[in-house]
Amino acid sequence: MAYDDTNIFARILRGEIPNDTVAENDHALAFRDIAPKAPSHVLVIPKGAYVAFDDFAANASEAEIAGFMRLCAQVCAMEGVSLDRGQGFRAITNAGRDGVQEVPHFHLHILGGAVMGPMIG
Ligand code: 5GP
Repeated sequence: MAYDDTNIFARILRGEIPNDTVAENDHALAFRDIAPKAPSHVLVIPKGAYVAFDDFAANASEAEIAGFMRLCAQVCAMEGVSLDRGQGFRAITNAGRDGVQEVPHFHLHILGGAVMGPMIG
């Protein structure tokens, strides 16, 4: 699937739409979900143009992958949900039609602050 740079997260990355930034590095941006499904709900996105998890995993550089993962860890610590500082979290990504992906720019949801419900449903 080709990347469509009119998607909402591409527009956030270009600064066309405001966001509530939690943390950022050279390769990734973390910001609060506009419709949070948990007390803490942060989206982590790569700055590169990747449609979904499999695209990112297959095509991103080592530096991009490391930058993305390190920012995820930073978010968990900052939100107080890491196993060092809190009670845990859920990290999920939706991909494509069957994954019910709404925004076609790869993003990881980090949810915490409460016990999560069932995975599917
Ligand atoms: P998906 O189903 O693609 O994994 O989830 C997309 C997420 O993006 C949803 O949780 C939705 O609330 C969030 N979202 C959609 N539009 C915006 C926006 O403009 N700003 C922010 N911060 N989150 C958004």
